[in-house]
Amino acid sequence: MRVTKEITFEAAHRLRFHRGACRNLHGHSYRVRVTAAASTKLLEDRELARPTDPETGMVVDFGVLAEAMREVLITGVRRRGDATFHVSPWDHSLIVHKEDPFAEAILAASMKEELDIGSQRMIILDVEPTAENMAACIGKEINEKLGIGIGVVRVELWETATSCATWEPEA
Ligand SMILES: [Zn+2]
Repeated sequence: MRVTKEITFEAAHRLRFHRGACRNLHGHSYRVRVTAAASTKLLEDRELARPTDPETGMVVDFGVLAEAMREVLITGVRRRGDATFHVSPWDHSLIVHKEDPFAEAILAASMKEELDIGSQRMIILDVEPTAENMAACIGKEINEKLGIGIGVVRVELWETATSCATWEPEA
């Protein structure tokens, strides 16, 4: 038994080595569909031992899954123990590879007081920000939020109305 929630966010990215238009900075209205299942094991082996909670009849409350997705993608809230802090959310951010010179240039510009740009939301990845890689990163972040007992088993990331990348944890 699995449950699925959907959310949308806006973001810009560019692919450094793309031979076509995608090497230009451009934006998408991304649609993310996350599927979670009850699991007594961690994400890596995906063994689904507990299909539903016999008392509640639920795999996971839709609200719990939705909140984890909102915190990662929209609000950037993180909790560590009793502490709550904020990191850049994916929404309205620029998503770039860590070695993309655009990342450095935008960081430098945003620190120049006379330009009054203010800090810019950026998601800096170790991998190229393709829909495939973004789906994997988002899946792992949301999975951490869900904690033990519930696992993300699929992320579908729609970059356009007709283009979708699907990530599932490796078996
Ligand atoms: Zn794109």
